[in-house]
Amino acid sequence: MRRVYDFHGGIHPAENKHQSVRSGIRSAGVPAQLILPLSQHIGAAARPVVTVGDYVLKGQVIAEAAGHVSATLHAPSSGRISGIEDRPIPHPSGLPAPCIVIDCDQQDLWTPHQGVADYRDCDASELLELISSAGIAGMGGAGFPTAVKLMGKPGRSVKTLIINGTECEPYITADDILMRERAADILEGVAILQHILQPEETLLGLEDNKPEAIAALREAAASASHVEIVTFPTKYPSGGEKQLIEILTGKQVPAGGLPGDIGIVCQNVGTAVAVRDAVIYGRPLISRITTVTGDAVATPQNFEVLLGTPMQHLLDLAGLQPERCERLVMGGPMMGFTVTNPQAPIVKTTNCILAPTTAELPPPPPAQPCIRCGLCAEACPASLLPQQLFWFAQGKEFEKLEQHNLFDCIECGACSWVCPSHIPLVQYYRASKADILQQRRDHAKSEQARERFEARQTRLAQEDEEREAKRAARKAAAEKRTQLATQEGGEDPIQAAIDRAKAKKAAQQAGTGTEPAAAASALDTLRQKLEKAEQRLAQSHASGEDAKIVAALEASAERLRGKLTEAESAASEAGAS
Ligand code: SF4
Ligand code: SF4
Repeated sequence: MRRVYDFHGGIHPAENKHQSVRSGIRSAGVPAQLILPLSQHIGAAARPVVTVGDYVLKGQVIAEAAGHVSATLHAPSSGRISGIEDRPIPHPSGLPAPCIVIDCDQQDLWTPHQGVADYRDCDASELLELISSAGIAGMGGAGFPTAVKLMGKPGRSVKTLIINGTECEPYITADDILMRERAADILEGVAILQHILQPEETLLGLEDNKPEAIAALREAAASASHVEIVTFPTKYPSGGEKQLIEILTGKQVPAGGLPGDIGIVCQNVGTAVAVRDAVIYGRPLISRITTVTGDAVATPQNFEVLLGTPMQHLLDLAGLQPERCERLVMGGPMMGFTVTNPQAPIVKTTNCILAPTTAELPPPPPAQPCIRCGLCAEACPASLLPQQLFWFAQGKEFEKLEQHNLFDCIECGACSWVCPSHIPLVQYYRASKADILQQRRDHAKSEQARERFEARQTRLAQEDEEREAKRAARKAAAEKRTQLATQEGGEDPIQAAIDRAKAKKAAQQAGTGTEPAAAASALDTLRQKLEKAEQRLAQSHASGEDAKIVAALEASAERLRGKLTEAESAASEAGAS
């Protein structure tokens, strides 16, 4: 017998599990319409690859993963795409979100698919690719893309693979029924996970309140000695990843850390079956087991249901009595949230729909002031100080909340459950986490904006410097040309350009007759320059200067003559008019 450990805190709420395991898993069939949210997992929403009007086959990709942490989406049945639009989805916000809608043709026709002949011939990267393209996301609740979780960090080996069959939340029996009916499938999936991770040991942990599941797993494991089935006393929330790790190994995941930091990987039993179906049969994740329970349904039970099926379809099959139903909850009474629209679909993480009566799940009484009894701290499985977190959350002291490890809170609700003042503690923590995450996003955005601004300023400064350097180079070149021309006794080109501009202006003025005095003065200047140039030319002829210099002087005198002629004719025309 393997030694098991206990974790701090925990509670024992009424289990209410027996109601939904009186019968086996029942198929929920194909509904008239399937509604598939593009985001059913942690990470970026999938990107549609179909358009309205397309006909799709069961198992066909309808939206592809958009980035590293994302999950592909497949058509759960054949039919025509009738919409890509916002629809109600199961989310605590109650807000609609983008979905692909399929009008099912009831033919349930598969796209061609096949698995690998023998997974043992495949290396880890090939199997991870298969798992990723099958769109598998953790089916125990959080919905983290499985392939990403299995990849872990490069160079880090896995000591222990833990398969989570705990299902500690009251009412939910989806994993229990799966372990009872498909124990061999679970172990086949576990063998594939072992082939990928090569762990030193593999432990499948479940609470002792599931005797049928324990027997089925032990029987299946008898012929597959690669997995140790470990049972332990029932206590909520043993199914929390960190709590289960502590129970099975005695190790604690460091605050703010991940199981991988201590060489452990956890996967849910439902995920193991999804991995097996993808690798051995090439079937993507298009269905799951969902418990429908609560006193407001006539026959609580577990359904194998196509993803995208409206909750109302399952509630009808289970015999919902709407007049008795106080509210709908996705998940269990501890960690679940209210679903406001029964047309919201089943998604990859929907393990339970709870339809309770008011007597069964009465609304909480009004909150009273905290009496500092400390019961919340005693119950907290994460060894946090819920009362202090509550004070900080009320005062929006986000830094202190982070210092007190708010993000280690698994939102199990044990603190609220024991609080004699009925303070909805978890709601405060959820709201604070959302505020802090929003702050982080805002901060990241403003950092990006600041970096963009600084990069632009640097670029502009560089451009200025380059312009200045070019200007200086042009100036130096011009000065050099002037110097050369002067040395050779020719006309200063810059001065010549200024003279030309002046002459042109004078000619224009002479043409318009606006400034006759200025035009006359410009003509005088040109005549003087020409005279000087001709004298210089005569000197050069007389002294027998170099032919190049003589030619430059002749060209200069010729230019001046031309300009003078031009200016004189413009002036005489102006006079004539
Ligand atoms: S259990 Fe409730 S009343 Fe008691 S210390 Fe915690 S928050 Fe305060
Ligand atoms: S909800 Fe958070 S703070 Fe409350 S008991 Fe659970 S882990 Fe502790």
